[in-house]
Amino acid sequence: MQGWARELGFSQIGVAGVDLSSAEPGLLQWLAQGFHGEMHYMQAHGLKRARPAELVPGTVSVITARMDYLPADTPAGWQALEWSRLQRPQEAIVSVYARGRDYHKVLRSRLQKLAERIAQEIGPFGHRAFTDSAPVLEAELARRSGQGWRGKHTLVLSREAGSMFFLGEIYVDLALEPTAPVTAHCGSCSSCMDACPTGAIVAPHRVDARRCISYLTIEHAGAIPEEMRPLMANRIYGCDDCQLACPWNKFAQPSRLPDFDARAGLADAQLVHFFAWDEATFLRLTEGSPIRRIGHARWLRNVAVALGNAWRATGDATLRQALASRAAHPDALVREHVQWALAQRSWHACAEPGSQGIC
Ligand code: SF4
Ligand code: SF4
Repeated sequence: MQGWARELGFSQIGVAGVDLSSAEPGLLQWLAQGFHGEMHYMQAHGLKRARPAELVPGTVSVITARMDYLPADTPAGWQALEWSRLQRPQEAIVSVYARGRDYHKVLRSRLQKLAERIAQEIGPFGHRAFTDSAPVLEAELARRSGQGWRGKHTLVLSREAGSMFFLGEIYVDLALEPTAPVTAHCGSCSSCMDACPTGAIVAPHRVDARRCISYLTIEHAGAIPEEMRPLMANRIYGCDDCQLACPWNKFAQPSRLPDFDARAGLADAQLVHFFAWDEATFLRLTEGSPIRRIGHARWLRNVAVALGNAWRATGDATLRQALASRAAHPDALVREHVQWALAQRSWHACAEPGSQGIC
């Protein structure tokens, strides 16, 4: 099975049983603390997440898979390149995983092909493939089946591949022998917790999604809390900081699929360029990208926050002009974030030395 999986672009597969009862108290506590924010689907599905046979009746094993996603041309020392983007406040930072094709499509179709390949060998069997698409306790299933251990940032971490990979699962009605978990290797390290710009990793292995930039820029639908906006800096879609800081990611592997190659313009575009996209342009240029899922208004909301931060940091009048061009946007969410962004620096500051004086 490993050979077939590798042919399909997966780096490793494993098998987990379906008794996840020992993970239930932690899940319930995380929900009770409200750390899931507005991800109400997490609460709505309750313990179904931890009970695979309730989600898909008849499930007795789960095949887990991981797929590396660093673009094939990722250079050595890529983390330093990513950190350097924070020094250029007018540049938009899109999380590395989101620069290529939508992983949901890539993984699900390949998991389906893997299931079909197994069926060719053993005959038809019941199965359903998932990747970040249903109430599935993905990271816990991956940990149990030996894909890696849970880092203090809660992501799954492998000695061979760091954490820069996607996870997928096939729920099957076959009784398969589980693969063994691996030991954890975080030790006394706390680099991810120290690097998190918002303090979202409130304790080892515990993330408050409400403070996490990935959640705020992607999952969260409404206004971004004002106290969080300056902390986002120029990150407009996701955040990689806890992964960039992790020493194990020096072992992160490039993808063997071209699907995750960065699309032209997504890795190093200027904020004003993205802010100028009208809805039709947004939909056209994000076709097949995970970014399309957040829609144009949330996209503008995120870019407006980053523009406000850049405007405060640089006083560059072109940023103010870009923001002003959206001040009467029909969507109240966009208008409010634009107003906040414009207020990040006083108009009079333009007359100060170094302000370029062209407000
Ligand atoms: S993704 Fe960013 S904000 Fe979220 S926990 Fe990691 S470092 Fe913190
Ligand atoms: S940065 Fe350190 S503590 Fe955090 S996941 Fe990596 S090894 Fe573990």
